[in-house]
Amino acid sequence: MNDYKILVNGKMITKKEKLNITSPINSEIIGTVPALSKNDIDKIYRSSEIAFKEWSALEPKLRIKYIEDIKKNLIKMRDEISITMCIEISKPLKSCYQEFDRSIEYIDLTIKSYKDKFMNPKIIDKSIHNVEGKNGFFYRVPLGVVLAISPFNYPVNLSLAKIIPALILGNTVVFKPATQGSLVGSLISKAIYEANLPAGVFNIITGKGSEIGDYLIENNLISMISFTGGVDVGKNIANKKSMIPLVLELGGKDAAIVLKDANIVESAKEITKGTFDYSGQRCTAIKLVYLEKSIADKFIKEVSKNVLELSIGNPIDNPDITPMINQSAANWGKKLIDDAVKKGAKIITGGNMDNNLLFPTVLSEIKKNMLIFDEEQFAPIMPIVIYEDINEVVNSFNSSKYGLQGSIFSKNIKKAHELAKRLNTGTININKSSSRGPDIFPFLGIKDSGFGVQGIDWALESMSRIKGIIENN
Ligand code: NAP
Repeated sequence: MNDYKILVNGKMITKKEKLNITSPINSEIIGTVPALSKNDIDKIYRSSEIAFKEWSALEPKLRIKYIEDIKKNLIKMRDEISITMCIEISKPLKSCYQEFDRSIEYIDLTIKSYKDKFMNPKIIDKSIHNVEGKNGFFYRVPLGVVLAISPFNYPVNLSLAKIIPALILGNTVVFKPATQGSLVGSLISKAIYEANLPAGVFNIITGKGSEIGDYLIENNLISMISFTGGVDVGKNIANKKSMIPLVLELGGKDAAIVLKDANIVESAKEITKGTFDYSGQRCTAIKLVYLEKSIADKFIKEVSKNVLELSIGNPIDNPDITPMINQSAANWGKKLIDDAVKKGAKIITGGNMDNNLLFPTVLSEIKKNMLIFDEEQFAPIMPIVIYEDINEVVNSFNSSKYGLQGSIFSKNIKKAHELAKRLNTGTININKSSSRGPDIFPFLGIKDSGFGVQGIDWALESMSRIKGIIENN
């Protein structure tokens, strides 16, 4: 078992007080990370604040060079990081490699966007507008200390998608990975350490959110928070922090609407994938399916055939379904299934659990009084609502407390566009399940799904502000 060190104020440190990290696959301890105290947190913020002066004043091309070195170091650690991720969060190994590669591409796209759109000031003068006698130079400048908090489910992508834009702009970063994900976090910090950034530019804080989370977000030296995680923690952050920019990417209840002219085989295949990838533990997983009555039997038959073919097992062997992140996540899924069944839902397939492994489950005849109609399951469960009137679907969709994404399956693209315009959510996907990406697209949630926009350009925008210098002649 490894004692994972973390990067704090220019050094890779360990501590006597540690957190044991266990694998969801077999509950074995796979490593330890330091459990930082409030005193450690205070020192970290001070070091980040001190480092900001030098880092933000550095020539942009030197910061880009550091980012490129971080990228090179990460690439050398591709196997180590991907395998650690697989064991730490029980994600199929192939998906871990995909997440890693996508994150490297994210770094490249961020460097490109920074060079093309952020490094130089936007100039507004009389050649483009009626501003006789004035030349405006509008720079994008960093904010200060950025607190980046990531969730367990994408420990590389959702960490680097915060850390890299923040650093390249000249912010310093305090990074809090999810506890289940902090071994990967420690490896990311090692890659940054080996790029020799000035001390304090990047610090990582490991420790349980339930113990240090409130203290972590209260510090007055924080200039911006980029958070991805659950609604409760997100709202707590929004309640506690005022007058600084926040980007909150929270939960979702993305629904798929299948119209009667949809290609049944293709949409059933896509919806199976969108629901069960990483055992449903994705913010953009399909979490409710609206099925037009006349195609319901055929679609359900097709979906249950697909679900029965899903493989189940150890994430190292790349099955479709793996043990969930912890026992309470599996218990929550089972509670939602039992509640629905008690209130009249029909189990098409699945419904059982073995420790933290929840078998892929399809539930039909879902009604509004069932918990799973509104609540985010974050588990391998497909709840199906059968509808006759599309206006009722629009009303239900729009009354959800969430608003991350949604999808529409239909052969009639024009009709799908019209329906998409009536749905109140961040993004609608036509004939594809909801998903984050490509990263060059804006990614956002409304209502309880959060606020602020992610995606390459928008992340850079959210972590910088405009500084204007106006020449008057
Ligand atoms: P979580 O329990 O809310 O944890 C997220 C992060 O917040 C972790 O680093 C956690 O640390 C930390 N934290 C916990 N309590 C805190 C506090 N009081 N103050 C500050 N930080 C605190 O979420 P999760 O279980 O990791 O992730 C699942 C949720 O994230 C789902 O709801 C999912 O939909 C959402 N999600 C959203 C998106 C999106 O882009 N919209 C993407 C991925 C996931 P500890 O691990 O130490 O508790």
